[in-house]
Amino acid sequence: MGRWAVVFSMIALFALFAQELSGETTGILVVTVTKGFRHDSIPAAETALGELAESGGIRVDFARTDAELGSMMAAEHLRRYGLVIFANTSGELPLPDRDAFLAWVRDGGAFLGVHSASDTFHGWPEYVRMLGGEFLTHGPMTTVRCDVDEPGHPAVGHLHPSFVVFEEIYEFRRLDHAGNHDLLHLDLHPQSGAPGRFPLAWWKRYGEGRILYTAFGHREETWRSVWFRAHLTGAIRFLLDDEQRRRPVKR
Ligand SMILES: [Zn+2]
Repeated sequence: MGRWAVVFSMIALFALFAQELSGETTGILVVTVTKGFRHDSIPAAETALGELAESGGIRVDFARTDAELGSMMAAEHLRRYGLVIFANTSGELPLPDRDAFLAWVRDGGAFLGVHSASDTFHGWPEYVRMLGGEFLTHGPMTTVRCDVDEPGHPAVGHLHPSFVVFEEIYEFRRLDHAGNHDLLHLDLHPQSGAPGRFPLAWWKRYGEGRILYTAFGHREETWRSVWFRAHLTGAIRFLLDDEQRRRPVKR
């Protein structure tokens, strides 16, 4: 190989390396570790999130075991990600450094919690504050009419303003009424039918960071459905979008 050929292949190698690095800073980490209830829909969740990331050209890593959680959520490793997703996690997860995780979110990270992400870390009040609510209970799966609150939001803009869905419907406590911007809610209690306001998806700020939570995602069929995948795609777009992130919020 001549001298210039060597130089050119080195430049190509550096270019490849630089691309790799820039990709790394906007990668997604999907966590599916459980220490409480384990949903049968977790494989379907991993498939859906993997396909959505791939179709958006976004690198995705999966933390499925305690060991993977330990290495991928270490402070220095977290910096590679633009977004962490808790997909049907449960219980007290063995994070390597809880404070480093919340500091990463506060400093401009993004967090997407899906379904039992709110049935996670009941013993960690600051996680509940960050998420904007805590799972309280659910009844049998049921059909509900769900209303969209913010039709201009990427996570719900594609949905019919009032749609019907069959799912396991969570009820919450410690909702952050001041900080949460509701995206989806029910006007009737999912079991009793009593009138009220029952939020099922919201977004909020946490320091410089952004949070989005959706209570849907119990059933495999939900993860495979077009509406839910579009809901997640919009949520991910919103959370990774720097312009959205800097946009002043009207309260
Ligand atoms: Zn469930």
